[in-house]
Amino acid sequence: MAGHALLHGIGVSRGIAIGRVHKLLGDDFDVPERKLAASAIEDECERFTAARQKAKMQLRNIRERIPQDTPREIASFIDTHLLMLDDRTLSDAVTDIIRHDQRNAEWALKLQCQNLVAVFEEMDDAYLRSRRDDVEHVVVRIQRILLKGDKSLDVTEQSETTVVVADDITPADVILLNQQGIGGFITEYGGPLSHTAILARSLGIPAIVGVHNARRQLNDGDDIVLDGQRGEAIGTPNAEECKEYQQRQLEAQRFRQMLEQLRDKPAVTLDGEEIELLCNIELPADTAHAHGVGAAGVGLYRTEFLYMNRPDSPDEDEQYQAYLNVIQAVNGPITIRTLDLGADKQVDSGRIQGPTPNNPALGLRAIRLCLKDEDLFRVQLRALLRASAHGPVRIMLPMISNLDELLRSRALIEDVKQELRNEGRAFDENLPVGAMIEVPAAALTANLLAQHADFFSIGTNDLIQYTLAIDRVDDEVNYLYDPLHPAVLNLIYMTIAAGQRYQVPVSMCGEMAGDTRYTRLLLALGLREFSMHPSSVLEVKKLIRESTLSELRATGQMLIDTHEPDEVQALITQLASAAPD
Ligand code: PEP
Ligand code: MG
Repeated sequence: MAGHALLHGIGVSRGIAIGRVHKLLGDDFDVPERKLAASAIEDECERFTAARQKAKMQLRNIRERIPQDTPREIASFIDTHLLMLDDRTLSDAVTDIIRHDQRNAEWALKLQCQNLVAVFEEMDDAYLRSRRDDVEHVVVRIQRILLKGDKSLDVTEQSETTVVVADDITPADVILLNQQGIGGFITEYGGPLSHTAILARSLGIPAIVGVHNARRQLNDGDDIVLDGQRGEAIGTPNAEECKEYQQRQLEAQRFRQMLEQLRDKPAVTLDGEEIELLCNIELPADTAHAHGVGAAGVGLYRTEFLYMNRPDSPDEDEQYQAYLNVIQAVNGPITIRTLDLGADKQVDSGRIQGPTPNNPALGLRAIRLCLKDEDLFRVQLRALLRASAHGPVRIMLPMISNLDELLRSRALIEDVKQELRNEGRAFDENLPVGAMIEVPAAALTANLLAQHADFFSIGTNDLIQYTLAIDRVDDEVNYLYDPLHPAVLNLIYMTIAAGQRYQVPVSMCGEMAGDTRYTRLLLALGLREFSMHPSSVLEVKKLIRESTLSELRATGQMLIDTHEPDEVQALITQLASAAPD
């Protein structure tokens, strides 16, 4: 039903979008079964062929409009689907079922999809087994056309005034939608720390997640205004509301212009202490943003995005080239995190990880996966080491939970170094190897790990998830997400203190580092190196330049000594007003 609708959710990427609703059909649609009269069969076969042709046209359209600088893997992912659309095991088999069973095209397609999935699941080869998801993606695309939903990730009619509304959007789809220049998105599920949300922030797409029933409350083509910071949207807004959102959009623009002037100013506190501000990057285009805000380097390069939206893994040369591009595009050290796949970051069809486990966040992800699949890990380490000959590279290991993982990884890096020496290839002999501190066990044993790591980086997204036992992508438990929980603050503090004790530099690259609500708190706890998405750098810098460290220190100690939530809140408020504004 059309009409004025107020929507509330979790604002995960700020910015104002003003435009029209474009609903994506979810994967949860019902496929109807209809018995056909004999005379209707040939028309039904034609309807299926036309839908298949339309799906091909959509994909070709997307493929042609991919910008030049898009990773090659996105194009090859689309090529795979185009090939499948031409495959006779899909096309002929469906028309056979339509004719033989006298059933409608959607139903026939559903049956053939089930047949193919069953065959793929029988396969021993994990890679071939994983092609099953490609079949499903292609089938969903045709089904959407047949069901007249036709709401695939199609670029044709999208623009910066399009606000996409969906049940959920994968990180890979955010990349595709961004290339189509959408204005913003709303999803019914998801949390602020999901990689979908992180990507939206780094791409600057205003977004709200966890808006239950959004698809029911909004109609395609409805006018909509969205505030990604407040987590609010209004469907069919009245004139006054439109004016208010336009005003907010203007104010946000003015604020950004004011921040621009800080680009070349140092991140120094009022009492003269220099703070290092680094960037988190995911996609090649992020390097330009990092450069644009004058970041001192890259504190987190999430390399798993190199593996997404493609049917195969990037080989050593491709990775080497990707790392080299970042080194050449950004000044300062480049901290490259080794592959962190698993949980909400799946490569196309679970190619590498195999079947989805019951508890993916606690399963074979990140360093666990790499140590299990040494061949996969070695390719990346070789590429990383070779790239280190061209600029200051640091290797960062994700999800370290014990000393053994750190030592085994370091031993493997030494082994790869020796291999490169034997081949006469150049690399940085002193390349630093650091550990992410994002599992409570790592923070609790930071004193031990510090003796074997060249640096630490605190990953608060996972640290909070694992400390408070809340799935970071589940909006139902989002209310428990609390970076100020005394347990979280203590683990952060323990990590920083261990770094200071063993002279191991400590950075923070979780979302907390780029959130200005926590900047002074983190300074008070002793953090001196922050890594965040480029769009936050200037705002954090502004706050640092208005802070006096000597005033913050005492409050930091009090924060650690108290476990009373109310007292913590009072101290945080005190920190927030500790400097002129
Ligand atoms: C983190 O966990 O805080 C982090 C930076 O890593 P990711 O968000 O990629 O898991
Ligand atoms: Mg993490």
